[in-house]
Amino acid sequence: MAGQVLLVEDDRSLRQTLTKALELGGYRVVQAESIAEGTLSFSTMINRSDSEAIKLIIVDLGLPDGDGASLIRWVRTQSSVPLIIISARYDDNSKVNLLDAGADDYLVKPFSFTELMARIRVAMRHRHQDENPAPRIYRASGIEIDLQRHQVIRHGERVRLTPTEFKLLERLMLQSGQVVTHRQLLADVWGAEFVEHTHYLRLYMAQLRNKLEEVPSQPKLLITEPGIGYRLSEAEPI
Ligand code: CA
Repeated sequence: MAGQVLLVEDDRSLRQTLTKALELGGYRVVQAESIAEGTLSFSTMINRSDSEAIKLIIVDLGLPDGDGASLIRWVRTQSSVPLIIISARYDDNSKVNLLDAGADDYLVKPFSFTELMARIRVAMRHRHQDENPAPRIYRASGIEIDLQRHQVIRHGERVRLTPTEFKLLERLMLQSGQVVTHRQLLADVWGAEFVEHTHYLRLYMAQLRNKLEEVPSQPKLLITEPGIGYRLSEAEPI
């Protein structure tokens, strides 16, 4: 049994479908349809013993008694449990702030279960990085990034990157498969005083894509999350 998931979603049919999918994935699901219910369930679950401990929270942003954001912020003051946002397209602004506030990832409705399961897998892996240190080698789409050797290989040939390009790639690799917001990238690569300079990112991502992607205009490796940030595609299993 993979553990318990708290699912906070007021749309009944979506909640039932997600519950079935999560159960097929081996999770037990505790359902909540409002912030009040979610808060109550979370408070109960957080003190449970290991086999019944909460492993993941999935929260919809548009809930009948308010914005799921308040629940997410509160949860983050209590716990570092993996947390995935599911939301409608119009909730974009809120999502960015929540990702900066510690939510692990987000999915825009409608999404596929394959996508949901991939996001869950990635979020779980990153949250358990204390026990399992992040890999120093990344492989996907014909690219190999080796942090130890400080090199990037593309189809067997070394790619020359500037120090900033490498730093940006390394930052994305730390959370491969997961979205990293513009602010997070700018703060970590350039420094806190540069968080508004999103044009740096556009420039450097274009350079990286030219060096690493088969078709730079149709990136498979360095994915744009419009209005939010970037995602390095999930590493291929080695
Ligand atoms: Ca809703």
